[in-house]
Amino acid sequence: MVEESDNMRKPSIIVHGGAGTWPDKDDVEAAAGAKRAAEIGWSILQAGGSALDAVEKATNYLEDHPLYDAGRGSFLNELGEVEMDALITDGTTLNFGAVAAVKHVQHPISLARLVMTETEYAFFAGEGADMLAQKLGMPVVPNIAFVTEQMYKEFIERTGGHIHIPSLGTVGAVAIDSEGHMASATSTGGRRDKPKGRVGDTPIFGAGGYADDRYGAASATGIGEHAMRTLLCRYVIDRIAEGATAQEAATQAAYYVDGFFNPSNLGIIIVDKYGNLGAMHTTPKMPIGWIDEDGIAHGSMGGSIHGLE
Ligand code: ASP
Repeated sequence: MVEESDNMRKPSIIVHGGAGTWPDKDDVEAAAGAKRAAEIGWSILQAGGSALDAVEKATNYLEDHPLYDAGRGSFLNELGEVEMDALITDGTTLNFGAVAAVKHVQHPISLARLVMTETEYAFFAGEGADMLAQKLGMPVVPNIAFVTEQMYKEFIERTGGHIHIPSLGTVGAVAIDSEGHMASATSTGGRRDKPKGRVGDTPIFGAGGYADDRYGAASATGIGEHAMRTLLCRYVIDRIAEGATAQEAATQAAYYVDGFFNPSNLGIIIVDKYGNLGAMHTTPKMPIGWIDEDGIAHGSMGGSIHGLE
C-alpha cells in the first residue's frame, strides 16, 4: 500500500478504527467499516472537496458506527457514562480544534471543527463543551444514546467483578486534497472503564493528531498515556520533515515507542505531502481503510506488529 515514488498522489486518504486486541468475530465488519469511511472521504476529495471536509465526514461515519470506540459505541467510564474526546487539525494554518469529556454531542469531531472555526479558542472540555455545542446549534443527545447493548452488557459484567480483555477502537482519518492541503481528525470514547474526567491523547495537538501542509498529517490511537508522552503524531511529522516517507516514519515511530513502553500498544496512520500513505500498530490489530493509487478502496485489520509492509 505504500507509494515510494516521487510522483504526487493527490488526493489521498487513510482512516483507522483503533489499535487494539479486536476479537476475531469483528474482523470483517471492522475492516469493512474502515473501508466505507475511506470511501466517504474519498468521494469528497474526488469532487474537489477539502481535506478537512473529507476527514470530518469519514470520522462522522465511524462515530455513528456502533463497533468503534467513538460516538455511539464508545467505552463507558467507571460510572457507566460515555465521555468523548476529539481533535481536528488543519495543516494549512496549523490551527486545531479540540473537545474533551463531552457527553451530549453526536459528532464530537464536528464540534471540534466548530471550536476551531467559530470561536477564538482552541480547546473546550466537559460541561462547557456540551454547552458550546448547544449554543452553536448542535442537537443535545442524551448520554444513554451512545451506550450500545454490548457496552452496557460489558459494564454490568465488569461491575459484577468479571475480568475483561481490553480492546481499543478510537477512530481517525488523515487526508490530502487536490490543492495539497492536509488535515487530521481523531475521535474517541477513551479507554474502557476509565475514571471519570480522564482525558487521553486524542484531543491533544501533536499527540492524538497533527497536520502540516509542508510535511504530512497523522492520527494516533492506542494507550493515550503513551501517545501523549511521546507526542506521537508530531514525532512522525518531524521524521517526514527530515526526509522519511510516510511509511518510513510510521516504522520509525513503532521502534521509538517500543523503546519507551513494553508493550507500547499504539497505532498511527499517516499521509505525506506526496499523498503516500503509512500505518503501523504495535497492537495485534488495527482496522484501516484506504484508497490505493488506482482509486480502489481497501479495508483490513492491519498487518504485522511493526507495520503493514
Ligand atoms: N487513544 C485513546 C485514549 O487513550 C484510546 C484509543 O485510541 O483507543 O483515549
